[in-house]
Amino acid sequence: MSTSTDIACACGDVRVRLEGAPDIAFYCHCDDCQAVSGGAYVSVALFPKSAVTVLRGTLETWKLRALPRHRCARCGIQVFAEVTAFDQIGVNGARLPPGVSKPAFHIQCRYAVNPVVDDLPHYADAPTDFGGSGNTIGW
Ligand SMILES: [Zn+2]
Ligand SMILES: [Zn+2]
Repeated sequence: MSTSTDIACACGDVRVRLEGAPDIAFYCHCDDCQAVSGGAYVSVALFPKSAVTVLRGTLETWKLRALPRHRCARCGIQVFAEVTAFDQIGVNGARLPPGVSKPAFHIQCRYAVNPVVDDLPHYADAPTDFGGSGNTIGW
């Protein structure tokens, strides 16, 4: 059985359908996410590109640094980003219904401005299967 989740921008012009569950979810503390979100860290859920369908609305693409980001042309709210290194789409976990995104670890903790103490692994950069060193830091 396949389930899907629809997410929308703030004004409702853009609606995007996500098929199935995220491949993985985590909290990212990198300075890129901080700059874009205005927050200390972001909850990220990764979906395969094939799972993402734009149902309606106009998206425009922009970049702060490396990642192409897609925002509503009307209200300017980011709907998703392309995580090009993994050929996946990153969705802010806060836009998903409760329980869909289950973050498994924290990444880019070396940039953290607001450490979060919990039972999850805290990677200085990223796990080895995400191209990182796999080193964790203690908070
Ligand atoms: Zn909008
Ligand atoms: Zn980040």
